[in-house]
Amino acid sequence: MDEKKIILPERELPTHWYNLAADLPEPLQPPRHPATHAPLTPAELAPLFAEALIEQELSTERWIEIPTAVREAYRVWRPSPLFRATGLEAALETPAEIWCKWEGVSPAGSHKPNSAIPQAYYNAREGIRRLTTETGAGQWGSSLAYACAQFGLECTVYMVRISFSQKPYRASLMRAWGATVFPSPSDQTGSGRAALAEDPETNGSLGIAISEAVEDAVAHDDAHYALGSVLNHVLLHQTIIGLETQKQFKKLGVYPDVVIGCCGGGSNFAGLAFPFLADKFNGKEVRVIGVEPAACPTLTRAPFAYDSGDVAMMTPLLAMHSLGHTFVPPAIHAGGLRYHGMAPLVSHMLREKMIEALSLKQTECYEAALLFARTEGFIPAPETSHAIAATIREARRAKEEGKEKTIVMNWSGHGLMDLNGYRAFLEGKLVDADLPEDLLARSIASMEGLPKPPAL
Ligand SMILES: *Cc1c(COP(=O)(O)O)cnc(C)c1O
Repeated sequence: MDEKKIILPERELPTHWYNLAADLPEPLQPPRHPATHAPLTPAELAPLFAEALIEQELSTERWIEIPTAVREAYRVWRPSPLFRATGLEAALETPAEIWCKWEGVSPAGSHKPNSAIPQAYYNAREGIRRLTTETGAGQWGSSLAYACAQFGLECTVYMVRISFSQKPYRASLMRAWGATVFPSPSDQTGSGRAALAEDPETNGSLGIAISEAVEDAVAHDDAHYALGSVLNHVLLHQTIIGLETQKQFKKLGVYPDVVIGCCGGGSNFAGLAFPFLADKFNGKEVRVIGVEPAACPTLTRAPFAYDSGDVAMMTPLLAMHSLGHTFVPPAIHAGGLRYHGMAPLVSHMLREKMIEALSLKQTECYEAALLFARTEGFIPAPETSHAIAATIREARRAKEEGKEKTIVMNWSGHGLMDLNGYRAFLEGKLVDADLPEDLLARSIASMEGLPKPPAL
């Protein structure tokens, strides 16, 4: 009988994270100061981040050791299983093998604790007392709340208002782990008050919530800020996913042909994909596909530009694919995929043609999620459903071509706290929101005055 899941023993938990920045043919464009546009110095990042994290952000070392305390904490749920979707394969009558790296087994239910844990650890080690952050769907906020509880830190979360009302249980989860949660825009910060004055009915956005969390951290010496995606050090921490997956495939004696992940800020995709890109740099043939919502098409529609991570332009300018920092995407149910920018490392890999990008509408994704739920049992996160839909497309293509191939996708989280979206879909009320083209054009134009990264 074929294996249904591959489980690594704890002693095989990776000891180092993989840093893709070590292997880039062309170096990354440097982050720049939002006001002066000059390349940032590490000292300018110090009010926001722990020293160890700044070092990782700028590092070009290939392997970075995972501290013992972080490995201890990881062992609560890691190594995570590599799971074969045999039921889905049968339903699709595909000759392809479909493997899913199952990140929903963490206490918070997604891949995000992979970075929340080291971020809380390094900040606690450097004497910080409180971390502030923003959260969209609530996954990052709950992951950081959980991680802070493990290392004795306080945690303040600014949660995008639309998610706060659509997902009240996620706020309860954060509070259960001891965090303080404000719907954003809030009246706690200048950026929040400004956004409320402009539109009291606003759904909020990740951009506004980031401005609030940064402002709070900068105003308090004993507080730092934590970001759940986009930055190099977050992607670094997530590579534990792909490194484990490679060990699991090694046990099977198989190498995947296609690697798939959904893209919000790019961290779960990068976490699975980057260790495979390391092999691709060495000549290995492997297709790597990032999947995003058609309602927030950063990789497929946005220019590669310098842009700010937040509307108030308090965060550094990053060279990335960006829809513009003023873009507020339609309120789709995959809240974790509603960010205007894409991680510089992921954007860079698209520019270098090391990865492919695909955008999908949410109804196709929910259909895919239901097929997955009915064949495999588990209810995937709406974000993950984008990876599942892309995987199904690849598996169907394999059938048409009569080709055996091995597909691996990142099953980034479970959807048990996201049943509102499932309810809307099952009641026939979920539609594919049109992109607000005029708003998008204005948002892209808002990057005009910023420095331009050089063409490749
Ligand atoms: C946050 C989240 C994502 C998207 O964020 P990335 O940084 O792109 O990984 C995807 N899936 C789940 C379950 C999430 O919680």
